[in-house]
Amino acid sequence: YKRLVLASRPRGQVTPDNFRLEEVPVPEIADGQLLVRNHYLSLDPYMRMRMEDVKSYAAPQAIGETMIGGTVGEVVASKHPKFKVGDKVQGMFGWSEMGVSDGALLRKLDTTHVPLSAYLGAVGMPGMTAWYGLTQIMQPKPGETIVVSAASGAVGSVVGQLAKLRGCRAVGIAGGAEKCAYVVDELGFDACIDYKAGRLEADLAAATPNGIDAVFENVGGDVFDASLARMNPFGRIALCGMIAGYDGEPMPIKNSRVFLTMRLTMRGFIVSEHMDLWPQGLQELGGLVAAGKLRFRESVAQGLEAAPEAFIGMLKGKNFGKQLVKLI
Ligand code: NDP
Repeated sequence: YKRLVLASRPRGQVTPDNFRLEEVPVPEIADGQLLVRNHYLSLDPYMRMRMEDVKSYAAPQAIGETMIGGTVGEVVASKHPKFKVGDKVQGMFGWSEMGVSDGALLRKLDTTHVPLSAYLGAVGMPGMTAWYGLTQIMQPKPGETIVVSAASGAVGSVVGQLAKLRGCRAVGIAGGAEKCAYVVDELGFDACIDYKAGRLEADLAAATPNGIDAVFENVGGDVFDASLARMNPFGRIALCGMIAGYDGEPMPIKNSRVFLTMRLTMRGFIVSEHMDLWPQGLQELGGLVAAGKLRFRESVAQGLEAAPEAFIGMLKGKNFGKQLVKLI
């Protein structure tokens, strides 16, 4: 089967030659192990940080090893008492068509009402990220205004929809008219600002007539500064990501004074450090998807070979919704 390994660390932007495709033999499984054929690979922004050899919340990805990544697939051989052939599972098998597991960190999936791929998106890590930041950090009350950047993406799309369900005014920020139209028309946000249109401050002011009570920040830089300028007293900020800076761009905060003048609270978080809350969050997210009350969109690249290009594209905003790679 095929897998992609990290061949070299990027300098600035990621390039295709940072990855290497390898063909490896299908392993024999031992007692207590199982073999999974991956159907989808999730491509996520955090992988960009793992490619770097710098201090972060997680150890860097080793050169020559399979790129890290979440996957969903089907058990094709099992010598494990709890898993049988045909079971659908979610694991961390990386950029690889197959994987062997001892069952630890493997989650059995029920695909009766939730499609398999959604367990990598709205009902998986990105959805949980949205749920955590909204419910644990932003804690919006009905009637409050929340803003989320990268609003059409895997995480941002869930943030705004959960906020709407909690009676908030939800305003998104996204790149381009098409993404913004989707955020309002399909996802039901109250407004969405196209930061590429060149009127970010004025458009955001018009869309937040009562100011902003809570922000879910995915981008950083000018996008974040625009939200800061509109914050109400005692506003809360969930700092989830700063994707505009992942290639090493500096991320100064110009409007830092509002932290003082508006008595703001900002907290960064890493969703994988809060596993205790995942069952609760995933239950709500799964229920909403099954009931058709939480919508999502996917960009699906075909075949493992397409993963590097799709990943590089996602970091530039070419994805529209959750970026996946279909492996089978
Ligand atoms: P998305 O599906 O949102 O895809 C990334 C999007 O980021 C792009 O589509 C693009 O949207 C936007 N983007 C890229 N570059 C820029 C830029 N320079 N300026 C503005 N926007 C940009 O990805 P996810 O939903 O998976 O992740 C969203 C954020 O959440 C990321 O920052 C990620 O690191 C973070 N995250 C954090 C976690 C945590 O535990 N803290 C866990 C999971 C995700 P557009 O075209 O609209 O600009």
